Amino acid sequence: MIARRVYGFVRAASLFAATALFAVSGREAIRALQGDGGAFVIAALIAAIVLGLLRAPAAHFERSVRPTPASDRVGLLVPVLLAVLVTDGWVWAALCNVAAYLVRPTRRRSSLRERIFGAALRVPAWYAGSLAAAPLHDAALARGAAPFLMFVAIATVYVLLSDLLWVDPLTAARQSRSLARVWNRHLADRGTMLTVLAEAGWAYVIVRVTLTDGAALGAATLAPLLVLAVVLVRFARLNARLHRLALSREAVDAMLRASDPQPQMRSLLESVDPRITRESVEIAAYGRGGADRWSRVVRFGPPVAESLERHGLRVLLELQVTGEDRADETHDDGIVSGYAARDVHGRLRGALLVYRAHGGQAHAEPRELARAALELGPLLGEYGAIAATHSAATIDTLTGLPNRRGVTRSFEEAMEYVRAGGTYAVLLLDVDHFKSINDLLGHQTGDRALAQIGRIIADNLRGVDVAGRFGGEEFLVLLRDAARERAMHVAERLRSAIESGGITYSDGKPVTVSIGVAYARSVDGTADVVERADRALYRAKNAGRNRVVESPLVAV
Ligand code: GH3
Ligand code: MG
Ligand code: MG
Repeated sequence: MIARRVYGFVRAASLFAATALFAVSGREAIRALQGDGGAFVIAALIAAIVLGLLRAPAAHFERSVRPTPASDRVGLLVPVLLAVLVTDGWVWAALCNVAAYLVRPTRRRSSLRERIFGAALRVPAWYAGSLAAAPLHDAALARGAAPFLMFVAIATVYVLLSDLLWVDPLTAARQSRSLARVWNRHLADRGTMLTVLAEAGWAYVIVRVTLTDGAALGAATLAPLLVLAVVLVRFARLNARLHRLALSREAVDAMLRASDPQPQMRSLLESVDPRITRESVEIAAYGRGGADRWSRVVRFGPPVAESLERHGLRVLLELQVTGEDRADETHDDGIVSGYAARDVHGRLRGALLVYRAHGGQAHAEPRELARAALELGPLLGEYGAIAATHSAATIDTLTGLPNRRGVTRSFEEAMEYVRAGGTYAVLLLDVDHFKSINDLLGHQTGDRALAQIGRIIADNLRGVDVAGRFGGEEFLVLLRDAARERAMHVAERLRSAIESGGITYSDGKPVTVSIGVAYARSVDGTADVVERADRALYRAKNAGRNRVVESPLVAV
């Protein structure tokens, strides 16, 4: 809070100082412009405005570590301003900077007042730069390599100092961050130094040409900067697009692995607009597996009142029914806004929901939220499609449980959990005398019995445990965090539930299973554990079936 107040004060003081300085020095600066100088200043002013429109910033380096659409800020303005400083004085350099700042398109249409305050902040730095103007001028006029190096050195020091001592403290104050962190980030950016050197070098070329060959040629040396700006802006946009695609891929992968896709989703949204994750936003997926259903994927930002949260579903249904791209619901507790996320074919794939209490602060603009939803659409569509084929390939159609491939994949993940220090117990179930069901009652009855047994197993497990059909009439069960006692208890429960499940042999006796129990050790592969469970199962069969036998290797 204090930092922001300091920032506000510095802003006001800067505006006052800028006005006073322009008033005092302005007339003299105009008088000092001889015909030729005037021509160069006008060319520089045009160049600065074009660079401003292209979002080339006053600061010469990219402060964000993530390539975002805001990365199309390329530092080409500095050489222009430096050149004006040297050839025509600080007033004109400051003026060019102010002009570039004022025309710069911003994401949030900031008010003119805000812009003027922001622009005024550039002025004191250029006033301080007037100290460097004379030595730079002399260095540019002298011949040879040494003066060139001198020019680059002075210009570099000036740019770095104004960044470190003026721009960075202002950034820290505005964002209420520690100055040390801003500096750290700034100095850790290896590109900074190179960029500044290049900027200083180009400024030398502009100044030298202007001073020795006249304003027309000097103005011509500004042109490459504009061309470069256009190229770099395009390149940065492409880069940001590729970056977002990579993030989408990672998010889809995380969702398919059923691990938390939050970090990837977060980066993705932040790459659209960094402020979005400060809102209470939720991503919902629609139509997964072909069903007309919504499922909530992730939620960011401050918590949402439960009463308000309930209205979220109504917004989702509204989007679904009306086919609109935006839906809002206002209630006593607040407002819920929904933005439809569609895939490339225009099909509804999900939505971005924003919850706001009445009077709550809005961080991101509707335009940016709609854009974020646009980015999410293909991602959610892809997720739905992959998830559907994924489950088709790993689900057993007879029992609805994961098939051997599916349960093996889960088992591999379970082994990672074990290697990270967790425990897993594994049960291998085999139906007793199953062949006799097939032989005496027919294959169809056999199939029905298997489906029933599968259901009984699934009904008797917790959500974190996994059961799958491992082979013909064999089932594999993975019990998470199960020490011996619980594993044996669950195994016994399954055995007795199947025995009393109402499935019978041809002689009317209940169908039973034998179960082998083994415990995963961090050194095991999945096959090792299954083999131990299989050996235990074999002993259960030999001991008369319809029983649970534990593998002797129980050390976890
Ligand atoms: P045991 O108690 O020793 O396990 O006797 P069993 O009869 O169950 O012997 P075994 O495990 O060798 O036999 C498995 C039988 O299960 C053989 C096979 O015909 C039958 N089977 C495997 N898959 C299916 C299936 O999908 N449907 C039906 N109906 N039967 C199957
Ligand atoms: Mg068998
Ligand atoms: Mg069997």
